Amino acid sequence: AKRDPHQPEFLQAVKEVMLSLWPFIQNNPKYAKDGLLERLVEAERVIQFRVSWVDDRGQVQVNRAFRIQHSSSIGPFKGGMRFHPSVNLSILKFLAFEQTFKNALTTLPMGGGKGGSDFDPKGKSDGEVMRFCQALMFELYRHLGSDTDIPAGDIGVGAREVGFMAGMMKKLSNDTSAVFTGKSLAYGGSLMRPEATGYGTVYFAEEMLRHSGKSFDGMTVSVSGSGNVAQFAVEKAMELNAKVVAMSDSGGTVYDKDGFNEEKLEAMKELKNVKRGRVEEFAKQFKLQYEAGKRPWHIPVQIALPCATQNELDGDDAATLIKNGVVCVAEGANMPSTLEAVDAFINARILYAPGKASNAGGVATSGLEMSQNALRLSWHHAEVDERLHSIMKEIHMNCAHHGKRADGSINYVDGANIAGFVKLADAILAQGVY
Ligand code: NDP
Repeated sequence: AKRDPHQPEFLQAVKEVMLSLWPFIQNNPKYAKDGLLERLVEAERVIQFRVSWVDDRGQVQVNRAFRIQHSSSIGPFKGGMRFHPSVNLSILKFLAFEQTFKNALTTLPMGGGKGGSDFDPKGKSDGEVMRFCQALMFELYRHLGSDTDIPAGDIGVGAREVGFMAGMMKKLSNDTSAVFTGKSLAYGGSLMRPEATGYGTVYFAEEMLRHSGKSFDGMTVSVSGSGNVAQFAVEKAMELNAKVVAMSDSGGTVYDKDGFNEEKLEAMKELKNVKRGRVEEFAKQFKLQYEAGKRPWHIPVQIALPCATQNELDGDDAATLIKNGVVCVAEGANMPSTLEAVDAFINARILYAPGKASNAGGVATSGLEMSQNALRLSWHHAEVDERLHSIMKEIHMNCAHHGKRADGSINYVDGANIAGFVKLADAILAQGVY
């Protein structure tokens, strides 16, 4: 905290992990040496740079961009790029730290990183987005490589932005690997990558429910956000016969008491991905209740899937969900629950999955995209889905193993933190001090 006094999100993420690890390390003193924890929290390299570009009116715009290369202990740095006005060093350092544990949990050979910019793609033309992405790559390309650092998408960075950045990467590096994952199918992308994080979150929740004798069938579900992760979480939950009653964006929440159906979900995808519109317009289109400025957590549901952004569910929201009978909360977003909310879920013995476990399906499928690129092969939809499903089951098993309480129930926060830590710590210790 002394070293990073102005980085609350980073300190929050580290604190959550350290609270889980401390008792474990006391019982396993081999991990209390060689400055292991200090090395684990300090990024290997942080790059910050200026991005200057010309907007449609011919004016020069200046943004700030970063790449946090947190850990390469298990493999090349790997993690998404985020474009959002809130992006700063604290947020990207928290994301890179979480990513390092998440990637370790996938069991695939990937280190952890994250990057992004305070550029806001909202309201920008395709040409402006392209010029910004290209200007960003003029600097970033020299830090990337298929065995060094492989970025992907995140908030504000979808197939369009990845395409613009990958194209410029290819041009500048004279290397067709283009390095990004989340590429479109036309030039080396993987089937199922768009679906992977949302589907993976629901697969993880399904495992948690199954282990306590429950299922999605007939349950009411709320999902925050309406972007990539939210859309596919809704799709998979519906496929498992759940009734999804809410989605949202930063403007507000739409409530559908009858539950979404395929037609509504397709309309939401079209609105968000093609027209880049607002949830408010969706509510109008289907004559549904819209609550401006509200998040979905006051709506009574049995399963809540936060899929928008960090710290979007606080202690009061958690108390409301618990009072209304929630049984399972699985995070599609990164750190959507505050520390108070996490405590509330754990104390109430809710089936609560932290993002680093439940949303790992996205990066796992990015890992599968890297494998396919290296093999110069494309796997079928079902093959990727099967691998994703079995990775999510394995992550669940690993978390359950390390998070088992004396009474037989599972603390998934401890489980995820300890399982990720053991893999990372063994790799760091084996490679000596450098
Ligand atoms: P998108 O940009 O596709 O969607 C983000 C959604 O969250 C939008 O509905 C957006 O609303 C909402 N949102 C963003 N910022 C805020 C905010 N400050 N307050 C309220 N709502 C907000 O991003 P993704 O779906 O890709 O990412 C969502 C979350 O999932 C993030 O936490 C990301 O880190 C995490 N994640 C994503 C993965 C992926 O594969 N994409 C992998 C693992 C985790 P609006 O349109 O109004 O901005």
